[in-house]
Amino acid sequence: MCMGEKTKEHVVVIGGGGTGAATAYDLCQRGYRVTVFEQGELTCGSTGRHHGLLHSGARYAVNDADVARECIQEVHILLKIAPESIEPNRGVFIALSEEELSFRDEFMNACETAGIENRSVDGETLRRMEPNLSPDCLGGIIVPDGTLDAFRLPMYFFAGAQELGAVIRNFTRVTGFRMRGGTITGVHVRDLRTGRDETVGCDFVINTAGAWAGVIAEMADVDLPITPAPGTMLAHKGRLVNMIIERLRPATDGDILVPQRNLSIIGATQWHGKGPDDCEVPDKDVEVLMKAAVEMVPKFAELPYQKAWAAVRPLTGRADNEADGRELSREFAAQNHAESDGVQGMISVTGGKATTLRSMAEKTVDMFCSLAGDDTVCRSAEAPLPDYRRFYTASESRMRYGA
Ligand SMILES: Cc1cc2nc3c(=O)[nH]c(=O)nc-3n(C[C@H](O)[C@H](O)[C@H](O)COP(=O)(O)OP(=O)(O)OC[C@H]3O[C@@H](n4cnc5c(N)ncnc54)[C@H](O)[C@@H]3O)c2cc1C
Repeated sequence: MCMGEKTKEHVVVIGGGGTGAATAYDLCQRGYRVTVFEQGELTCGSTGRHHGLLHSGARYAVNDADVARECIQEVHILLKIAPESIEPNRGVFIALSEEELSFRDEFMNACETAGIENRSVDGETLRRMEPNLSPDCLGGIIVPDGTLDAFRLPMYFFAGAQELGAVIRNFTRVTGFRMRGGTITGVHVRDLRTGRDETVGCDFVINTAGAWAGVIAEMADVDLPITPAPGTMLAHKGRLVNMIIERLRPATDGDILVPQRNLSIIGATQWHGKGPDDCEVPDKDVEVLMKAAVEMVPKFAELPYQKAWAAVRPLTGRADNEADGRELSREFAAQNHAESDGVQGMISVTGGKATTLRSMAEKTVDMFCSLAGDDTVCRSAEAPLPDYRRFYTASESRMRYGA
């Protein structure tokens, strides 16, 4: 890394999803010059394809108190800095059997420990609040989950980064690295609209290419432990509930039903994919998800079909089959390739979730700053981001988008 005056250092962020957006914003706030390269439209990867649950952390509270604590902390921060990307409609974990109901105390205690507000409600009261819930519902726990707008949230961060001078180049694919000795000194890119190739020099690269992070790492002859794990979601037209409905039991396929504007989305499954582009929905998934939705909200079956689609999780670690993939943690990891592989100038990010994009960026940029000998602290949680619409209306953006 050639670290001179702070504003002179140039960091390339690869990937224009939520993680790349939050990373670019954090870097700009700490005074770095930033260029983001995204091979498609911004948010076209898993960021624009997930079902939009803002995790309060309740889902993780029993098995992973740290992740649960991180989620609830981020919920409070995002409500403050990106308010229009969230519908604070709450979630309820429902019990459809005595066995599920017996999980209640353990679940509530774990929420308590993680600092997640929770309230137990009996079946009758719950059905008054959500009349389309199954008549089998024996009760549930209400928690501060929410519906997340998968596009608006990252666009808030892109607007913030752009306002602080980041250059954001969509439809521009990174095709390789310029190396000097064992150090990355630039990226080779292709503008997919013009076919033009160029090399852009930089001091450091942050690889936030999601499920493609392993492909990017390979370009620098680095073997990154990542498993692209796809999952299906199913949307029907119409909104049957206002809260997010989840099952009061250990997490499994099809146990999250998200009301997203006027859609009802049930998700998700997980299978062993062939690679980051493997998004073809297996036929059996639609059946599994339909059955799971109807168990919680029977009228789901009466709504017109809208779409079944898949997104790919960039899980940290390696798995050769579906069972092993399910064992992998959903936790975020940032890997400094100088330490693990002897390649200077790149950090790769894997794992995590859309809800924690800001804290993932904070930890990644902290790691980068400590390598750079820079003690500037993260400020991304402090003040509201600029309106996400500004990404498209600001003059520099209008020029890029040709409006
Ligand atoms: C089924 C499913 C449901 C989920 N539901 C939720 C949920 O409800 N709530 C939640 O918080 N999280 C959810 N997640 C997790 C969430 O979707 C991901 O953690 C998050 O979207 C990852 O964002 P990202 O920016 O890291 O990756 P991505 O959004 O995939 O971004 C990576 C980007 O890199 C770009 N790229 C790749 N190669 C190149 C290249 N060579 N040059 C330039 N650009 C490149 C890609 O085009 C892509 O846009 C879900 C995940 C799945 C699979």
